[in-house]
Amino acid sequence: MGVRGGGTPRIVVLAGGVGGSKFVLGAREALRRRGVAASADHLTVVVNTGDDLWLSGVRLQPDVDSITYALAGVNDTQRGWGRQDDSERVNAELQAWGAGWPWFTLGDLDLGTHLARTGWLRDGATPTRVLELMAARWDLGARLLPMTDAEVDTIVTVDEPETGPRPMHFQEWWTRHRASLRPLAFDNPGIEAAAPAPGVADAIAAADVVLVGPSNPVVSIGPILAVPGIRSALRHTDAPVVGVSPIIGGRVVRGMADVCLTAIGVETSAVGVAGLYGARSGDGVLDSWLVAQEDAAAVNAVRALGLDAHARPLWMTDPARSADIVDAALALAGV
Ligand code: GDP
Ligand code: CA
Repeated sequence: MGVRGGGTPRIVVLAGGVGGSKFVLGAREALRRRGVAASADHLTVVVNTGDDLWLSGVRLQPDVDSITYALAGVNDTQRGWGRQDDSERVNAELQAWGAGWPWFTLGDLDLGTHLARTGWLRDGATPTRVLELMAARWDLGARLLPMTDAEVDTIVTVDEPETGPRPMHFQEWWTRHRASLRPLAFDNPGIEAAAPAPGVADAIAAADVVLVGPSNPVVSIGPILAVPGIRSALRHTDAPVVGVSPIIGGRVVRGMADVCLTAIGVETSAVGVAGLYGARSGDGVLDSWLVAQEDAAAVNAVRALGLDAHARPLWMTDPARSADIVDAALALAGV
């Protein structure tokens, strides 16, 4: 425990989109509180790419973009996704052509990102390189790594009473159907053969602390842990691995993670998610688990799973509150 060589800790965060980006803003703020100017040297974010998809000829990376825009300060905080002050002229034109998905809005500025990304990919850049190019535009204060360079989009098998089980892209299930079709399974085809993106396993191995952010356990953290090599890197790192519960008072704060948890047979509770990730002393990935104050009664049940557990305020209402959560996680890790 403690920071190797003393000084500022090297933090690795595993994150999805909206919840993940609020947490990452907190991690950057926590480093600033410690007087760290070059936080990109100390903060590495491993981002879920299971939400990615091809649409109208361009590659979308919703979680990558949520985190990038939030760190750059250009995200739409009201709506929760996309760019501030965006317009939808191109989207209207795509709809007029009958192209894309009528229920999936692409903002004009956002499309600029997708076009740039797609161009780089077509020129032969890997997703890792694309993220570097994107990060070079703004001073993000964090190094962003995709979980893998492989395309491993999330497919939901939904139960349709009339037609039987049917596979559907995660974005169609989430955005068009608002998770209303009963999911039977979540898969990332090809993920068994995917490798962690370059730098991911090394960052986890060299970290002073690894934080599993309060993101959707099934479709944000789940795909990251499903990349062979990431789970074993977490199990073998000398760094403490501390998770933060996305459940407050037995409910998901926003979104439909409860539907995802129910589908894989996990209770929507701080204990349920802790059990899903598991303790490193067993066959899981966590040493410690922060639960919300509202779930303080769950602390003993989490400890019974072999985890160090503590109750703290977990509302990420602004970067300062998120930084308090990160500080609490760093304190548990002894850094
Ligand atoms: P997405 O990829 O955009 O769906 O975002 P994430 O997967 O990163 O995060 C979604 C999760 O964040 C949801 O399951 C929420 O329960 C959780 N979440 C959102 N806001 C908060 C908050 O203020 N505190 C905590 N603890 N969790 C939150
Ligand atoms: Ca997501």
